[in-house]
Amino acid sequence: MSTPPFKQEPHKLLLIPGPIEVSDEVLFANAHPSMSHVSPDFIPVFGDCIRMLREVLFTADGQPILVAGSGTLGWDQVASNLIEAGEDALVLNSGYFGDSFAACLETYGARVTELKAEVGAAPSPADVETALKSKPFKLITITHVDTSTGVLSDAKGICDIVRRVSPDTLVILDGVCSVASEEIRFDEWGIDVVLTATQKGLGTPPGLSVLCVSQKALKVFETRRSPPSSYYASWKRWLPIMKAYESGNAQYFATPPVNLIYAFNASLKAITKAAPSLEDRFKMHKEASQRLKRALEDLGLRQVPLDPAFAANGMTAVYYPDGLVASDVLPKLNKDEIVVAGGLHKDIKDRYFRIGHMGLSVVDPSRGDLDRVIQSLQHIFG
Ligand SMILES: *Cc1c(COP(=O)(O)O)cnc(C)c1O
Repeated sequence: MSTPPFKQEPHKLLLIPGPIEVSDEVLFANAHPSMSHVSPDFIPVFGDCIRMLREVLFTADGQPILVAGSGTLGWDQVASNLIEAGEDALVLNSGYFGDSFAACLETYGARVTELKAEVGAAPSPADVETALKSKPFKLITITHVDTSTGVLSDAKGICDIVRRVSPDTLVILDGVCSVASEEIRFDEWGIDVVLTATQKGLGTPPGLSVLCVSQKALKVFETRRSPPSSYYASWKRWLPIMKAYESGNAQYFATPPVNLIYAFNASLKAITKAAPSLEDRFKMHKEASQRLKRALEDLGLRQVPLDPAFAANGMTAVYYPDGLVASDVLPKLNKDEIVVAGGLHKDIKDRYFRIGHMGLSVVDPSRGDLDRVIQSLQHIFG
């Protein structure tokens, strides 16, 4: 990639589970001069984002939808387009983000059944199977990585169960904290919606709600009895826009975040076209994660996820050692110019903290981001 005529200011190293560090190239792309959203020069920039997102998710015919908003808007899009009032949704809850997805679905009239796991775990495959057999669910939601606990759900395993015992149920994967840092095989696993945002593994500033919808889910959408229950989030309005941009035309519903699309395009190019390959990218996230988790273990710190096999690779949630609280730890990291995140899960909020390790901080080891945070942690806890 060519070097941009721009270098971002020295700043504190941002290691939270999103937003993450972004490259000079991506920031410079965001500084593109103002452009018309229907300009022939802009159309392929948007179209390529759609095409490259398919590559990231390993899908041939999933339909990407890019709408100004944050990750949360993805929940509203699912709830207002795929559920009709009174229909059943099964929410697999592995933390804070399961609670919120359930609340969003209920806002649009869904009848929500929640399978809640204990803190640090995800609902068991047996419980998921029993729940799916209890009544017909229109959709099931999985939080791939619950950012409040660092628990990684077995998305592929759950897809297999759904296909076996309730094949009409749509599988919705909240991948806000997993896309581009955890492996996701949209077609092969049989996922119906992946929803995410730009500011986590996708390495772009915040501001874009990013979805990919299966052809099966689009059919379910097209055969709704009632109209979509949102104006701005309606796929009736957005699908023609996505199809237009992809086919080299432009159509207007609501102005897209033009500059952010340039930035997203630059980041997607780095993810799909430059080294490392996607497979290597996932491997690097695993290795970096294990290195950090081992270092924390050596310091006597206990992770929030109960089973190491189901701990996220793009972030780490870890309890403070006995007797220490946030104010003993976070200011010290801050003094070393490192920003991490405090607790979020209501049951353990003040007892743990979270470190993000996604994107650049992982795939460009020459930056030394991981070395820095490990050294600082060793200094604090050693
Ligand atoms: C961050 C996050 C969200 C919410 O995304 P916003 O961009 O903050 O609206 C939803 N789900 C998960 C799993 C997240 O990590």
